[in-house]
Amino acid sequence: MQHLVETQRTYFNTQATKPISFRKKQLKLLRDVLKQHEELLYDAIYDDFKKSEFETYVTELNLLYHEIRVARKQLSQWAARTSVSTGLMNLPGKSYIIKEPLGVCLVIGAWNYPYQLSLAPVIAAMAAGNTVILKPSELPGNTSSVMAKLLNNAFDPAYLKVVEGGVPETTALLEQEFDKIFFTGSTKVGQIVYKAAAKTLTPVTLELGGKSPAIVMEDCDLKMTAKRLVWAKFLNAGQTCIAPDYVMVHESVAMRFLEACKTEIENARYAFEHDNYVQIINDDNYQRLKGLINAEQVYYGGRTHREERYIQPTLLQHVTFDDAVMQEEIFGPILPVLTYTKLDDALRQIACLPKPLSCYVFTKSRKKKHHVLGTLSFGGGAVNEAVMHISNLDLPFGGVGHSGMGSYHGEAGFNAFSHQKSILEKPTWFELPLKYPPYSKSKLKWIKRLMRFS
Ligand code: NAD
Repeated sequence: MQHLVETQRTYFNTQATKPISFRKKQLKLLRDVLKQHEELLYDAIYDDFKKSEFETYVTELNLLYHEIRVARKQLSQWAARTSVSTGLMNLPGKSYIIKEPLGVCLVIGAWNYPYQLSLAPVIAAMAAGNTVILKPSELPGNTSSVMAKLLNNAFDPAYLKVVEGGVPETTALLEQEFDKIFFTGSTKVGQIVYKAAAKTLTPVTLELGGKSPAIVMEDCDLKMTAKRLVWAKFLNAGQTCIAPDYVMVHESVAMRFLEACKTEIENARYAFEHDNYVQIINDDNYQRLKGLINAEQVYYGGRTHREERYIQPTLLQHVTFDDAVMQEEIFGPILPVLTYTKLDDALRQIACLPKPLSCYVFTKSRKKKHHVLGTLSFGGGAVNEAVMHISNLDLPFGGVGHSGMGSYHGEAGFNAFSHQKSILEKPTWFELPLKYPPYSKSKLKWIKRLMRFS
């Protein structure tokens, strides 16, 4: 690991990664490698957890191609030096900001969208002119090894290298000195990464998880709300960091909401053979999720199959904040539905939990929408929609508090891997004598006057 990091640092110091033309060429190469080997990518992810070509394209490759397309198109603009005002005190002169790459970057990926979550930060790091070491999650072993095989064949390891492995390999990487660490995963491991980065004062972006609520109000379009929430929850069998973790529904519409969700689940006909449902990633998670289903609370679903690592889309009713299912991020196809009578009471209860990655509000009321958006703190979210905010690259994506720090996607990703170097540039033909000793009352008076116009 030490040798690899040193090799990348030496390469970075040659300045080879900085020209915009180099970055665009490498991004194109990455796109070509993915495009040429799409079949291998589809096969690997299907072998890992039965994720279909349709879902892999829509929720992973499509987003990566989009990131590359936007980065190549807008890179010159993002990387351009930006001028800012200079202020009277420093005139004549000019002020500007240079966006410079940070250096050698480490990207640690999560397993649930293995291509997207590993490669979108890599694209951002490349666009910003860095070298990158990618450590994908080891849990989907086939996707990890196909990424390693394809990228390590196509790229110089001094520029981009995939290192496979689990805890020991990640620990060994975290012992090295990087210029940036970008981590996607659990809050618990995020703390380990943050601690390791602190030793070398390495900047981090932490993309973590949490319990993302959906608030369903009595005035919402119930049918559309159920349709969108059911899709967002059971996509990837609930193994989505921004999936609605639980629903807070106004008690007056709770039964109609449950009924509408059940209809939507039945209409979708979730099944492996329909290519619209995936397996639970491993036996540990299967057992954990099974343990969260309290049979007495099941409104719909609840069926499980161990060999298939299958958990049926499940709706739970009569759930309270004290239940086991409300003590941790679910990260699976179980949707607890809780009721409220007063919106402010619901918001107070939600705010007692750590700040979530997302929040979804379903209402026709402008006033209530603004009230929720202004009251709760969360990473990002949507109104009358769920999950889809991730697809807009103009919306920085990231958490707050326990759900993470920093953000990426589009220009936000470029900025996450760049340093803003601030420069004041002055000619030498003129100098105000005011700042130089000997100090005097009249100089101070002039400084105060000038500051008023700065
Ligand atoms: P995880 O934290 O278990 O693993 C993430 C990465 O950390 C993996 O590459 C793994 O190899 C490594 N790792 C695991 N244990 C480690 C240790 N002790 N020391 C060093 N490295 C270690 O997370 P996961 O199970 O892959 O993903 C699920 C979690 O990630 C959920 O909480 C989910 O909400 C969150 N998540 C967040 C986002 C986001 O964009 N914010 C996206 C996907 C998942």
